[in-house]
Amino acid sequence: MIKYKTAEEIEIMREAAQIVSRTLGKIAEAIAPGVTPLELDAIAESYIRSQNAIPGFLGLYDFPNTLCISINEQVVHGYPTNQPIVDGDIVSVDCGAIFEGYYGDHAYTFAVGNVAPETMKLLQVTKECLEIGIAQTVVGNRIGDIGYYIQQHAEKHGYGVVRELVGHGLGKTMHEEPQVPNFGRRGRGKKIQEGLTIAIEPMINMGTERVKYLDDNWTIVTADGKPSAHFEHNVAVVNGRPDVLSTFKFVEEALAKKPNVQ
Ligand code: MG
Ligand code: MG
Repeated sequence: MIKYKTAEEIEIMREAAQIVSRTLGKIAEAIAPGVTPLELDAIAESYIRSQNAIPGFLGLYDFPNTLCISINEQVVHGYPTNQPIVDGDIVSVDCGAIFEGYYGDHAYTFAVGNVAPETMKLLQVTKECLEIGIAQTVVGNRIGDIGYYIQQHAEKHGYGVVRELVGHGLGKTMHEEPQVPNFGRRGRGKKIQEGLTIAIEPMINMGTERVKYLDDNWTIVTADGKPSAHFEHNVAVVNGRPDVLSTFKFVEEALAKKPNVQ
């Protein structure tokens, strides 16, 4: 059952999402070649706790950390290691926080140093897919419209849309109904209604859409080893329109001061 939210609940969720947005801003300030994912994880955990919030991923399904950090061919659910980030990596950072009982859950893929132009294009198109999905989140549409238009845009560029992992409803739990696939058919799925709160999160592969698990049983990688990108926002339906609860503003402000990271 979909749990539609009241205006009051949406305001709490906005703060949860903004705590995650500010956390990603802190990550944007710190990320560089030589920095380890575990160092980023520590920054995120202490910042979230300083905001009277709780890391949302830590302990969820037994996940061991605050951030999911997925590098290059890793799609999602990578866990932070002490292996330094190197020049040329793309680094997807997915972060969750619980504030007053509600979850925020959003993600950004950073390009660190000299990233190949074709990979920069993958990041750009994946970000566009997110914007396209958000624009479809209006009363009168159905959930299938979100995925349909995301898929169209990704496949137009020859990219693969991951099938095994999808966006989701968000609220007092991390994964609520409905599922929000990044693929699908126009006019299908649940009707989009006032008070819907969802995480839209295209996971787009440069090559094949197929993925596999690493032996750690967490990290999901592309089957062909080509790069994958992931951007995620939290969206509420307010007055029939998408109200984006999270923001990349803090990331963009931090990156504007760092010419070697995008
Ligand atoms: Mg996420
Ligand atoms: Mg999510």
